[in-house]
Amino acid sequence: MSQPGTSVLPAGRQGRIARVRAAMEESGIEAMLLSLGADLPWLTGYQAMPLERLTVLVVPADADAVLLVPELEAPRVDPDPAVFEVRPWAEGEDPVAAAARIVGSRRRLAVSDRMWSTFLLALQEALPSREWGTSSRVTGPLRAVKDREEVEALAAASAGADRVAAALLGGEVALVGRSERQVSEDLGRRLIAEGHDRVDFAIVGSGPNSASPHHEPGTRVIGPGEAVVCDFGGTMAGYCSDITRTVFTGEPSPEMVELYALLQEAQAAAVAAATVGTPCEEVDRVARERIAAGGYGAAFIHRTGHGIGMEGHEDPYIVAGNAQPLVAGHAFSVEPGIYLAGRYGARIEDIVVATDAGPRPLNLASHDLTVVG
Ligand code: ZN
Ligand code: ZN
Ligand code: ZN
Repeated sequence: MSQPGTSVLPAGRQGRIARVRAAMEESGIEAMLLSLGADLPWLTGYQAMPLERLTVLVVPADADAVLLVPELEAPRVDPDPAVFEVRPWAEGEDPVAAAARIVGSRRRLAVSDRMWSTFLLALQEALPSREWGTSSRVTGPLRAVKDREEVEALAAASAGADRVAAALLGGEVALVGRSERQVSEDLGRRLIAEGHDRVDFAIVGSGPNSASPHHEPGTRVIGPGEAVVCDFGGTMAGYCSDITRTVFTGEPSPEMVELYALLQEAQAAAVAAATVGTPCEEVDRVARERIAAGGYGAAFIHRTGHGIGMEGHEDPYIVAGNAQPLVAGHAFSVEPGIYLAGRYGARIEDIVVATDAGPRPLNLASHDLTVVG
């Protein structure tokens, strides 16, 4: 079976674990226990199966990392002795007790944000009177800064999504007369055909549904003269894509034209603002200010963007209140939207990387107002 998380490029791993140890030192965390979620594949290239058998990488700040993995899963691990030791556990063994033995007397512990509560509760029982936190405090800021290989992996995934967007904009994806669900499935099939290992989502919101940002594509049949928001993405070689284009099935009304032009301008202004050193919240403010100036401030009902990498949503968040300055290697979406409840909406989304040479959009499919059949 294909495991999307297993193909992480190994080049950066040793550097990553060194940075993790330094950050653990700084925050006083003595051991991390990494299970489900992206921290584990980011460090080891191995993605734990989301199953009842525990897989956990124990990373003591002051000793070698050990990957406890069910014996039957062990063949899927690509060993990297410079980074971690593999210790398979057999049916009948107690992996929680084994993890507790590796943790030993260390007191300040951090676990994967997405570790199942069944595992965490068992670990807490086996390791009484410890301090527990989430690993993202350590790994979030580190994972947010992509190395060169990661940027190229994101660029490849974005290019695949771009080719699907180009087909949509070029009228190759039939809309009128098909249900949202049929179009969603079509977009998903095209993502796979363009090299994705997995489709993570393919939102298709038509007519009044285009005003619902995370609309679940349903049986509604797309008609002529409607706005259709298509927001789709997946995973390619462990890294995510995420793109939104809004198309119109027939000549849009003057109001739609004006609204779309405003959105296009706000999105471009926010991308241009995403320079190294600019606070994340400033990028959000730029988009919001433009949309408010056009009279649609109350209709922009979500943050401007989110970080992206091995997870579809991760640090840094492009949102009011996040004063963190952008650094070279931050990868994130810029996706303002305008939604008129019960009527229609529009969104434009690109993935952008902050670089010393300026913002680098990874999605290049056209933003122009596009009328398709
Ligand atoms: Zn979204
Ligand atoms: Zn999206
Ligand atoms: Zn997004």
